[in-house]
Amino acid sequence: MPDYVVKATAGNGQIRVFAATTRGIVETAHTLHQTSPVVTQALGRLLTAGSLMGSMMKNADEVMTLKIAGDGPLSGLLVTADAKGDVKGYPYISDLADSSASPMSVSEAIGKGAINIMKDIGLKEPYVGYAPLVSGEIAEDLTYYYAQSEQIPTSISLGVLLNEDGSVKQAGGFIIQLMPDTDDETIDALELALSNTPSMTKLLDAGKSPEAIIEALFKNIGLKISQTQEIRFFCDCSRDRVMKALSAIGKADLLDIIADQEDVEVNCDFCREKYHFSAADLQSIIDLISEKDI
Ligand SMILES: [Zn+2]
Repeated sequence: MPDYVVKATAGNGQIRVFAATTRGIVETAHTLHQTSPVVTQALGRLLTAGSLMGSMMKNADEVMTLKIAGDGPLSGLLVTADAKGDVKGYPYISDLADSSASPMSVSEAIGKGAINIMKDIGLKEPYVGYAPLVSGEIAEDLTYYYAQSEQIPTSISLGVLLNEDGSVKQAGGFIIQLMPDTDDETIDALELALSNTPSMTKLLDAGKSPEAIIEALFKNIGLKISQTQEIRFFCDCSRDRVMKALSAIGKADLLDIIADQEDVEVNCDFCREKYHFSAADLQSIIDLISEKDI
């Protein structure tokens, strides 16, 4: 079953609801980056958040980057998502040693730090939001970010459930946002429903779909599903893009690289794809730069 996000409203449009199943995305990240369990959990939660937040953007060409930097052993995570349902990401450290006797929590792995959210909405300057981490568990940190940075009351759940061998059994989450005019009765009903709901991954593991999960959650608050959108782990890197990045470092530096060694290998951070450039390839990049100079 492909991963997807369900978009809905509830309570006469006073509540926005986004729920996703992301097992495929998180397992792809686990395989590409060979992540150890606590890293799979942390990256999986942020990829799930990115998938949800990407689907909340209004225009198809918008791109969002979520960056967590912490003083824990994981050091940080970076996720990029777009409005079309493509998401990609990587951990700063992928193979964090994790003793099964006393497994490390995501919060211990991340430590103290901050979350940065950058939205490229097609303007010259991207929108940049920032909030300190309040727990390092990611869902709570994003809830705090929305309250602080965007003044939107938000409830977020993000979860990753692993198999014994470290592969991903279930992953998913939801984001629920209250519009400023939400009445107290609706807020009370939602709070009660949330406090009685088991975790998203537990429900997914019991065979429930994201639609069924939010339908149960909002059964007394008038849920209206408006759209389902497929989402996937997808990296848009290419040899052309890497060549552009290489030409940006300039002629003098490229000549230095040719002088020092015979060829260069560039790894994509997001998907680990390797791009190989021989000295002759580098020379042709330099020739292109030189032509532009004339
Ligand atoms: Zn890539």
